[in-house]
Amino acid sequence: MKTGRPLVLLYIHDEESPGLRARGGASKWWLGKSLAEHGRHIEKAGGRLTIRTGAAKDVLNDLISETGATAIFWNRRYGGPERTLDTDLKANLKQDNIDVMTFNGRLLTEPWDITTGSGTPYKVFTPYWKAMKAAYRAPDALPAPKSLSGPDIESVTVEDLGLHPTHPDWSGGLEETWSPGEAGAIERLSDFLEGPINTYADDRNRPDLEDGTSRLSPHLHFGEIGPTQIWRAVQHGISTGKFDESNAMVFLSELVWREFSYVLLYYNPDLATENYNSDFDALPWRKDSDAAKAWSDGKTGYPIVDAGMRQLWHTGYMHNRVRMIVASFLTKHLLQPWQVGEDWFWDTLVDADQAANPASWQWTAGSGADAAPYFRVFNPITQGQKFDPNGTYVRRWCPELSDLPDKHLHTPWEADSATLKKAGITLGKTYPKPIVDHPTARQRALDAYDTLKEKRNAA
Ligand code: FAD
Repeated sequence: MKTGRPLVLLYIHDEESPGLRARGGASKWWLGKSLAEHGRHIEKAGGRLTIRTGAAKDVLNDLISETGATAIFWNRRYGGPERTLDTDLKANLKQDNIDVMTFNGRLLTEPWDITTGSGTPYKVFTPYWKAMKAAYRAPDALPAPKSLSGPDIESVTVEDLGLHPTHPDWSGGLEETWSPGEAGAIERLSDFLEGPINTYADDRNRPDLEDGTSRLSPHLHFGEIGPTQIWRAVQHGISTGKFDESNAMVFLSELVWREFSYVLLYYNPDLATENYNSDFDALPWRKDSDAAKAWSDGKTGYPIVDAGMRQLWHTGYMHNRVRMIVASFLTKHLLQPWQVGEDWFWDTLVDADQAANPASWQWTAGSGADAAPYFRVFNPITQGQKFDPNGTYVRRWCPELSDLPDKHLHTPWEADSATLKKAGITLGKTYPKPIVDHPTARQRALDAYDTLKEKRNAA
């Protein structure tokens, strides 16, 4: 806008450049809605969103010849293949005398900005968080442009991108749950700041509460709201005494977990495939596709796990506490490689993120930076009892268990036959028997970890 020259507002749908990870189904659904909404927004201001498909390099070269563009601006990307592509692109464009300017449009600070005293990237969260709190000041907001204009050039439509699922269209649950786009993001933030932020420190662990967390993650992922906007609004509420400071700071620390995962991705481009801690290369994972399928179908016989997996399938989202429980269950109780779960989440989450997803999977599996120790095996029974004490969450997502008394809701296999009958449950038919016995599976995971330690000591 500052150049005062006509602007082409361009979205490149690039499924051709080498090395890019294809988006999952839920992410494509969101992208389609988000682009359509963004296009409408731009049109209201008199502009137009141009959409082109193909390798970014080819699309830009074509566009430069068509329009005579002399400058290109984009926001930086942090994945390994994206960085290689963007660096090459920038060098080639500069050689052709095109001005290129790139910006941070995704993060509070660039991954290389906040470093330890010796200039190395942080590998542990708490000192990173302390350094971030001390260093970061959110810049003032710039006003949105009042009017936009630009050449009316060829564009495909959002529908042409084929992002909406067909045969079958499974997106009903997503549609009911979300409002992709900037207006939906702003509304979610303001609802969260109106109340839930003040009880966030405790409520964030409760999947049974509708508003325990902000549910901003997909909006943040798609850039419909920026972390800077959120940071500024929260700091303002703290300084004016509107928000309880300790709760609000816990919320900001979660935003900084997001930043931390980008630091990890930036310095470890293979984060989604390789163990961050290579000791874990020796862990004897099991190959058991039936177990992995029972997990992804939400049929493990452990109600909190099954409820989480079904929430994910239906809404494209799962509560963070439950994400940790199901990830621990897959990697420890079932001893499946964390990449199996990361892939499933990648396909089914509306907030599937190339930094937060692998970083969080590795954190739970024990192979990640500053990770939960491998010997910490989440107990799906006590976790359920503690964080879903009245069974509201389980009853919502596993309705076949609804009539069980609270006492047995997280352990249906311990209910006597009269209780099961009264609740209309036949274990193994209407609801699965537990796929593994908790103490046995826990011990098997610890034994696997011991072999890893032995191998490391022998090396
Ligand atoms: P809030 O509690 O309201 O937090 C506010 C924001 O902070 C979130 O929107 C998110 O951007 C960020 N945030 C919160 N917790 C984390 C975290 N642990 N790591 C990184 N950022 C965080 N988050 C994703 O955005 N995309 C993913 O693909 C993803 N995969 C995950 C996989 C596993 C196995 C686990 C355990 C966690 C994963 N998370 C992921 C992190 C977290 O579960 C979600 O960010 C959170 O549940 C989103 O809900 P919210 O917006 O209500 O979060």
